[in-house]
Amino acid sequence: MGGAGPATAVPVRDAEIVADIIRRAAAALAEAGCDTPRLDAELLLMETLGWSREELYTRPETTLDASEAERFEALVARRRRGEPVAYLIGRREFWSLDFSVTPAVLIPRPETEHLVEAVVDFLASRPEPQRILDLGTGSGAIAVSVARECAGAEVWATDVSAPALAVARENARRHGVDRRIDWFQGDLFAPLRGLPVSFDALVSNPPYIPSREMARLPRDVGAWEPVLALDGGTDGMDFYRRIVRDGTPRLREGGLLALEVGDGLAGLVSELFRAHGGLRRVRVLRDYAGLPRVVAGERTQASGTVSRPDPAPGVVSG
Ligand code: SAM
Ligand code: GLN
Repeated sequence: MGGAGPATAVPVRDAEIVADIIRRAAAALAEAGCDTPRLDAELLLMETLGWSREELYTRPETTLDASEAERFEALVARRRRGEPVAYLIGRREFWSLDFSVTPAVLIPRPETEHLVEAVVDFLASRPEPQRILDLGTGSGAIAVSVARECAGAEVWATDVSAPALAVARENARRHGVDRRIDWFQGDLFAPLRGLPVSFDALVSNPPYIPSREMARLPRDVGAWEPVLALDGGTDGMDFYRRIVRDGTPRLREGGLLALEVGDGLAGLVSELFRAHGGLRRVRVLRDYAGLPRVVAGERTQASGTVSRPDPAPGVVSG
């Protein structure tokens, strides 16, 4: 959203019906620079009334009582200032699951589903039980989705942010996988120090926005989402360097390292994977928009790890 300026209220009129309320709210959101004004107006009204999308379409003649009108006006005013809908309604769909979100976590992005897909496809060829590590789990989007898809997987999830981990745990409980996820708070691999564990897959969507670009992020992102979740250091590569260096030795023989990459970083991250002698089959997966989105590779040698003996590596898709 590009519109600055104060969030002037858009009062619901006396006896105004749902269909008209949405139309006027959408116009006000468009005027404030919102990219998806109609959708946002609908979601905010559904939230206000506790309605499903179906009710929205089947009850267009409904009017609001005073308290509903007041709550809806307040949500539209906040959205006009750029506050993301997901934070306003406290949830976002990812991998067809409903995730709780708070301003402590990055709002899960549809692109990140490619990362989940890469891991799920890979695990299909690995013997169970498998162990997965999700670094910087945020809302738990990746960890919970992988745990749901792969019944034989034990997931470890880490984040430096305690409030983020609380959200992730709530999401795991909500989706019935809390008992298959272990949570660790701390800086990347620090919480695993001294633990003799290795993984079939190590996955992360790390912060990757170059620091100098933080000020140029779209307002909905830059002004509202956690800096901790976004800032990837001077060139956006800080986390990739550390994860490739410290993560590769944590992989079992044939294990997968799969990382989401930011705009323009796929080449550098692939180089990093290739330069690390322990990774082979390095590949870049594209998202629905055709953009490079995931870099993946597999570990060739288990020397120096603390893994159990591994069976032969299977066929990998993707
Ligand atoms: N995995 C979630 C997703 O894909 O939606 C969140 C990804 S967000 C881009 C990056 C996450 O890494 C944030 O939750 C942030 O708190 C966490 N993080 C940042 N620095 C970290 C660090 N040094 N160690 C562990 N986690 C960190
Ligand atoms: N995909 C997010 C954005 O474009 C960035 C997330 C990240 O740094 N991993 O705003």
